Amino acid sequence: MTRTTSSSNPRRAALIATGLSLALASPTLWAQATAPVKAVASFSILGDLVRQVGGERVAVEVLVGPGSDAHVFQPTPAQAKLVGQAQIVFSNGLGFEGWMSRLLGTAGYKGRHIVASRGIKPLHDEAAGGHPHTGGHGHEEADPHAWQSVPNVMVYVGNIAKGLCEADASGCDSYQRNAATYNAGLKALDTDIRALWAAIPATQRKVITSHDAFGYYASAYGVKFLAPQGVSTDSEASAKGVAQLVRQIKKEQIKALFVESISDPRLIAQIGRETGVKPAGELFSDSLSDAKDPAPSYLTMMRFNTTALTQAVRGE
Ligand code: ZN
Repeated sequence: MTRTTSSSNPRRAALIATGLSLALASPTLWAQATAPVKAVASFSILGDLVRQVGGERVAVEVLVGPGSDAHVFQPTPAQAKLVGQAQIVFSNGLGFEGWMSRLLGTAGYKGRHIVASRGIKPLHDEAAGGHPHTGGHGHEEADPHAWQSVPNVMVYVGNIAKGLCEADASGCDSYQRNAATYNAGLKALDTDIRALWAAIPATQRKVITSHDAFGYYASAYGVKFLAPQGVSTDSEASAKGVAQLVRQIKKEQIKALFVESISDPRLIAQIGRETGVKPAGELFSDSLSDAKDPAPSYLTMMRFNTTALTQAVRGE
């Protein structure tokens, strides 16, 4: 059997040359011929945002998938390998992924690391005084859940587009176009959320959730959230804090009690029994849902949460 290399086969060489010139002449063909940018996003919500901006040019792998808790995540060796092979890594920042810098080190990753919340003014855990964290960080903890305010996510989208433009300059027009389209959808979402809350008296806008994940939502949309756990799920709620919360729910006649998809529902069930308030269902705070459930994207998550919250505070 004889082997024919492409250089010794004039017909094949000509075909390659034709294909190459066609590809160079047509941006679409060129894009199809180029391998997608390998991106890693730390958690499901951020993964959705990177996919929206990246479109077909970017292949996104998510480390903390739907239904999982990024606060207490432990990367696997396979995920470290994935990070090692990435061309760009996206994290939320604000202390959300305490495991990220070690993971980047383990993976030997030297590429671009985009902190999507960059430029957002962080909120701090006001409740920390009420139920101190056992972590002993020695400083006031920043609230990492900045994505719960839609205007903040427009900042995320800008940072993602900028990062992708740096990683893949030839796709920059496409990233900026995708970002502008997505941000228009975010603006409409923000308007709708404001309209839904505007119909409810301010004194009625009080909600109990598992952990303090809704501080940015509270501040953007004028809703009061209380939780037995602080801004991270890495520490237990104290008995004293829970008792205090139960007294407050009774005193202020708070009707909206929610579990979060990432949290153990038992504590909220206990608070429900002690206050006589029936838990209203599930919110998606730190993670999207699977495709079959109601919050598989950032837009559907925010709409689902807002509908559930506004119905619950009305006592519906
Ligand atoms: Zn959280």
